[in-house]
Amino acid sequence: MLQTSLSVVAPPGMETPRRPALSVVVPAFDEQEVLPEFHRRLAAAMEGIGLAWEVVYVNDGSRDGTLGVMLGLRAADPRVAVVNLSRNFGKEIALTAGLDHARGTDAVVVIDADLQDPPEVIADLVAAWREGFDVVYAQRRVRHGEGVVKRATAAAFYRLMQRIGGRVRLPKDTGDFRLMSRRAVDALLSLREQHRFMKGLFAWVGFPARPVLYDRAPRAAGRTKWNWWKLWNLSLEGITSFTVAPLKVATYLGLATAAIALVYGTVVVVKTLLFGNPVAGYPSLMTVMLFLGGVQLITLGIIGEYLGRVFNETKRRPLYLVERHLPSEPPSTGAAAGDQPAERTTLGRVA
Ligand code: UDP
Ligand code: MG
Repeated sequence: MLQTSLSVVAPPGMETPRRPALSVVVPAFDEQEVLPEFHRRLAAAMEGIGLAWEVVYVNDGSRDGTLGVMLGLRAADPRVAVVNLSRNFGKEIALTAGLDHARGTDAVVVIDADLQDPPEVIADLVAAWREGFDVVYAQRRVRHGEGVVKRATAAAFYRLMQRIGGRVRLPKDTGDFRLMSRRAVDALLSLREQHRFMKGLFAWVGFPARPVLYDRAPRAAGRTKWNWWKLWNLSLEGITSFTVAPLKVATYLGLATAAIALVYGTVVVVKTLLFGNPVAGYPSLMTVMLFLGGVQLITLGIIGEYLGRVFNETKRRPLYLVERHLPSEPPSTGAAAGDQPAERTTLGRVA
């Protein structure tokens, strides 16, 4: 499990392009203000680690000059790879695209571009990985720059997921910022579902894992693309792609209402037998009808959430389309093993 990279000596005359040991994957959407600073800090942090590395910037259909900034970085630094997606696909898929194109032979680090995840923490991730852990996830010690409500809802969500997740456990206060060994990345990439709740997928893969605590900083520049509606949808995504427990709610709700109806029905029958039928009961009838109608609509909605996801998966579309891929230059020296880089197709799948 210890990821020592064996430097394979290529047979004479067979020039094999070297691959870096470590890849850093950075999805970015409208991040032109922070990217130069991010790259400066990343490069400084990576220098201290002493492994050959590359950074894969994924431009997720930015509407600003992000792509230009990335190309500029690549012109100045051969360790930069750029993957330009054909449009905005969302962070989860941009991340997958980056992982697909990461050529690091030993490990891959996933980090946000907005400097909320300090690049300096990567050294700690690498240290823990060298101890033999396949997955080292950065766990927030405190959440700066986030309101009380956001913190409370996040906590509630993690608690809910913890309870319904069954065997698969979601570590709390953990985002996508993490290091994964090559075999963990390959395992993750074998999951090609359309609905990519990354936290769930990371957790599903398993492998020896441990947290590294860090302080999450507020955004350096630009603004978050999250709003409450998106967070709500992300939670729905998380629950529905993680567990089918809500489907069972319908069953138990049905059983409970049937039991109540039986008791109530008995009461009505007995009352009618004893006291006759004064033909009243419009309010209770209305209440029961509305209540049952509501329950039915909610359960239909839950089924619909799942059905919609089944529909999306059956189309089997590629996860993303690549407009342009500029790989990093192979490292001239370093601890990288040298096998042929995999052929990339533009269909969101590594051939
Ligand atoms: N991001 C992306 N595509 C999107 C939205 C966001 O690639 O559609 C990137 C964004 O550039 C950043 C990371 O995902 O690097 C996290 O986004 P953000 O900071 O908006 O999320 P938050 O930190 O608020 O959870
Ligand atoms: Mg952020």
